Amino acid sequence: MSRSAHPAGPRYADVIPEGHYAAPPADLNVLDPRIWSRTVDRNEHGAATVGGLDVRALAEEFGTPAYILDEDDFRARCRAWHEAFGGEADVFYAGKAFLSRVVVAWLKEEGLNLDVCSGGELTTALAAGMPADRIAFHGNNKTMDELERAVSAGVGRIVVDSFQEIVRLADVAARHGVRQRVQIRVTVGVEAHTHEFIATAHEDQKFGLALSGGQAAEAVRRVLNLDSLELVGIHSHIGSQIFDTSGFEVAAHRVVGLLRQIRDEHGVELPEIDLGGGLGIAYTSGDDPSEPHEIAKALAEIVTRECTAAGLAVPRLSVEPGRAIVGPTAFTLYEVGTVKPLEGLRTYVSVDGGMSDNIRTALYDAEYTVALVSRASDAEPMLSRVVGKHCESGDIVVKDAFLPADLAPGDLLAVPATGAYCRSMASNYNHALRPPVVAVRDGVARVIVRRETEEDLLRLDVG
Ligand SMILES: *Cc1c(COP(=O)(O)O)cnc(C)c1O
Repeated sequence: MSRSAHPAGPRYADVIPEGHYAAPPADLNVLDPRIWSRTVDRNEHGAATVGGLDVRALAEEFGTPAYILDEDDFRARCRAWHEAFGGEADVFYAGKAFLSRVVVAWLKEEGLNLDVCSGGELTTALAAGMPADRIAFHGNNKTMDELERAVSAGVGRIVVDSFQEIVRLADVAARHGVRQRVQIRVTVGVEAHTHEFIATAHEDQKFGLALSGGQAAEAVRRVLNLDSLELVGIHSHIGSQIFDTSGFEVAAHRVVGLLRQIRDEHGVELPEIDLGGGLGIAYTSGDDPSEPHEIAKALAEIVTRECTAAGLAVPRLSVEPGRAIVGPTAFTLYEVGTVKPLEGLRTYVSVDGGMSDNIRTALYDAEYTVALVSRASDAEPMLSRVVGKHCESGDIVVKDAFLPADLAPGDLLAVPATGAYCRSMASNYNHALRPPVVAVRDGVARVIVRRETEEDLLRLDVG
């Protein structure tokens, strides 16, 4: 098992024995619609297109590497989530997956709410005109400055995460003369991940207040005693890249148990329950995520069943998908710089980006696919590893991939499903210039986050 293997599942572990690889796909030119955003296609020249635009033209105009974001796909996913939950639940997009002012505008237009977890994300949300009451503020160590800004902006809810924060927030709210709506983040002892989850007795992590041992119940008692805070609900977030709802089922059962305890002890029924985010997407053809309407149906049934069994009115549900909305909507476009065959091993293909624009492979052993997109090719499949240009042997973008054997410098490669946690986690390692995000729709491309420049680097370095 690799060191960063996830405790709840083999998803990111090094489970493929050395020397054993999945068979190459029958046709390397096929762009699997489960992985690529919905307007991606190939044209008569064999080049990939998105939003009706040839990737070669996009590379020419905007340079590489670049994140290419399919606006139609983003909006369609927002609508699918919004419609799936109907009027019965609130969908909060998790801004940490990828946030920009244009994205905030799309969310606003498509009827979604927004989760932020830092002053920077709050500023972006407010600058783009997201109404404060549609914003939720998260985080395990919000600064006093962040709490002040959130309260004075009038954010709809703040999810409190510690006993200290309850005191701090109550003080800030009192000074502003407001009664701040809060949820309490609880840890329910469920660690969910892809097809498996672990339900443990105790919770060994930095987030939230544990249900077991009574921390969460104590937090409830304290918040209920503070005039400047209005406790509206309980919040639980159990993991990431989750493919089935059994972990949510256990989480909902435990959260509803707390709601019942609150009613019995304090005589109040809290009106809201938030089950967090973490819904998975397809990074490879082997991944088979559920559709939003299936998830909505399953979660609503679980919460209704648990509440009915506990004799509670069904609270208003909210969910917080990040990856499931933005992840599939973008791909990263790279140019091949060098091709280095290693006899009997594999071919190392170096692109003009790397761990600075996609840290997930190095950080989580995440799996990606890759395709030659500037042309079609009938050449034999070649076992490849797509690597970046950084001074680090772990600088891998796609660990195991089949690419056509005629691949050459100057070809364009695209790595799909990089909309979430790639630009938002990008770094300046080796003084790399973080790539732009280019949104495309109906034959029009526009930069929504520009490429960093060397001037930007020198501006921060005050000398
Ligand atoms: C990260 C996070 C999310 C979003 O997770 P995804 O895996 O992107 O859906 C939602 N809620 C909270 C509290 C989070 O920390």
